[in-house]
Amino acid sequence: MSCDFAALANAGIRGLSPYQAGKPIEELQRELGLDHIVKLASNENPLGPSPRVLEACAQAAQSLTLYPDSNGFELKRALSERFDIAPEQITLGNGSNDLLDLIARVFLAPGTSSVFSQYGFIVYPIATQACGARAIVAPARDWGHDLDAMAAAIAPDTRLVFIANPNNPTGTRVSRAALVRFLEQVRDDVVVVLDEAYTEYVDDPDFPNGLELIDRFPNLVVTRTFSKAYGLAGLRVGYSVSHPQVADLLNRVRAPFNVNSLALAAALAALADGDYLQRTVEINRSGLGQLAEGLGRLGIPYIPSVGNFITAEMPDDALPIYQKLLQQGVIVRPLLPYQMPRHLRISVGLPAENDTCLRALKQVLGA
Ligand SMILES: *Cc1c(COP(=O)(O)O)cnc(C)c1O
Repeated sequence: MSCDFAALANAGIRGLSPYQAGKPIEELQRELGLDHIVKLASNENPLGPSPRVLEACAQAAQSLTLYPDSNGFELKRALSERFDIAPEQITLGNGSNDLLDLIARVFLAPGTSSVFSQYGFIVYPIATQACGARAIVAPARDWGHDLDAMAAAIAPDTRLVFIANPNNPTGTRVSRAALVRFLEQVRDDVVVVLDEAYTEYVDDPDFPNGLELIDRFPNLVVTRTFSKAYGLAGLRVGYSVSHPQVADLLNRVRAPFNVNSLALAAALAALADGDYLQRTVEINRSGLGQLAEGLGRLGIPYIPSVGNFITAEMPDDALPIYQKLLQQGVIVRPLLPYQMPRHLRISVGLPAENDTCLRALKQVLGA
């Protein structure tokens, strides 16, 4: 008999379940032979890439034989100018998921713990467990983060707190006042990760900008991504902003060349393309309204969202409904991994895609 490799694996990794991604369009095409498929499952930007990004990628492709700039000098400089932060505070990642993992690797180990919210983004428990650390789950309030419960959940061995603002998959958000009150309470040896993957979509004077809080709270680390509003999910690029000492620690565990040269060039171009971002936010606002109104008309309750997705509560187990939607060529996201068995998360698409999804739901539910 060959070796039992699972027995050799780190304890945390042995107990890990892999991240479940949204079903790829090609997979459903292969399975059902459908030619028109609407994918509203991974919170991607429905506009497609900006032409300026495609141009930058074509340019950068000329140099594919060379390693990328491992320090991402130009992108860091552009981010630093745009957001008025020092380049030494920035760490680039292969998507912001990479940064969440790096932060966990730097601060978590067996004998330590992290705190996150029930219904919080699923990468937090995965990253915690991979490091052999203990996960402390604070109960949610109205599906969103209850920062008082999270503060109360912090244990003596807690090193990290993860907050997604807005949160995926619930679309909920915390206000600036609540966040500041929380940060004032947290011990300064607990690192607070504020995951702002959807921040660009939120237009609300009470919504906090984490970057403005880092000087006041040096234990705050903000992560952001080019995958969502900037439309670059396929390229994998994100960044964190932190105290320079935290950035230095992240840099020690970061894989060399973790952000590829097309991604660096594309992110730089995306950052400069204000029109694309504005169109993205506008089309999202109207699409979110369209989905909310359509769900309301079908009598389907939903969690009010400020992201680029909306999470709806089915009358019963959502999995058979998800399967029937697939048969109609509509891919959404079941939330079983979040212990939300009756919910489906629907990403905001173009108006026609939203319409297709609502019609399919109507048919499936016989409403
Ligand atoms: C999508 C998402 C991310 C990260 O995505 P990347 O593509 O890895 O940048 C991070 N946090 C939340 C809450 C997300 O939904």
